[in-house]
Amino acid sequence: MHIRPDVVAGVDMGATHIRFCLMAADGAVLHCEKRRTSEVIAPGVAAGVTALLQRQLAMLEARCCGLVMGFPALVGKDKRTIISTPNLPLAADELLNLAEKLEVKLGCPVEFARDVNLQLSFDVVQNGLAQQQVLAAYLGTGMGFAIWLNGAPCTGAHGVAGELGHIPQGDMALRCACGNPGCLETVCSGIALQHWYQRQPRDYAMGEIFIRAADDPFVQQLIAHAARAIATGINLFDPDAVILGGGVMDMADFPRTALIAQIKQHLRRPLPYQAVRFISASSSDFNGAQGAATLACGRFIPQVQHLTALN
Ligand SMILES: [Zn+2]
Repeated sequence: MHIRPDVVAGVDMGATHIRFCLMAADGAVLHCEKRRTSEVIAPGVAAGVTALLQRQLAMLEARCCGLVMGFPALVGKDKRTIISTPNLPLAADELLNLAEKLEVKLGCPVEFARDVNLQLSFDVVQNGLAQQQVLAAYLGTGMGFAIWLNGAPCTGAHGVAGELGHIPQGDMALRCACGNPGCLETVCSGIALQHWYQRQPRDYAMGEIFIRAADDPFVQQLIAHAARAIATGINLFDPDAVILGGGVMDMADFPRTALIAQIKQHLRRPLPYQAVRFISASSSDFNGAQGAATLACGRFIPQVQHLTALN
């Protein structure tokens, strides 16, 4: 008789693309798939995501014992409530009881997570850091930041810990997408960089900013802002390691060495200055979905020694 393997599912839902990962109980990746978000959610989020997952599960002849789904959003402490999704084209009624709708359709438990914590989970497992204290700064569209404590992402009292991008260390004359004035992201984010780039005609592509305009005061200030904010996080948390990544840091000639040198200028001596390690985030297309599946392994297959436990 054929025995259907138990698998977990990770889904990373972005504004443009939605990525799926099915993972075996031992942490092995069984299937990854990337689709356009608008196409998948056309019949509704719960119906669209379920249909795709069920097709993938049928292909593997597998049974799903849990799903972790990530959003570029604030997710409540209950891991079921999506509080705010400024970056997703979703109607409010789509999000109402979404976890319950998915659980009924899929027949397994469902939890939500903030996308930055999916990436963090992936990078922590990849680097064997699950038993350590880790911070991650992902300078992408926003200034993503995440905290790994006690073997899991630290989510705070309300689920929204780690919003380094919204500390009041930006341009007080500018209003952040979150509604507050002067957030760090007004001067230190992919969006801020794009606004600067579009302010006047340039004879190079945006992806070449760090090749062609590395000495521009705005670009230099962006690095300095990032360094001060990340150093603040390190001085607060005294982590073993700091993961650095995100779309802006992945751009050609991004001054990673200079950023780390500037961060270290602001670190308390002798510690954490002497001990903290800087690690590059990996930037494959499925990090978030794999991170979600890794979290699902930890949540829904506790009896099996999965990757997180081994590290
Ligand atoms: Zn803000």
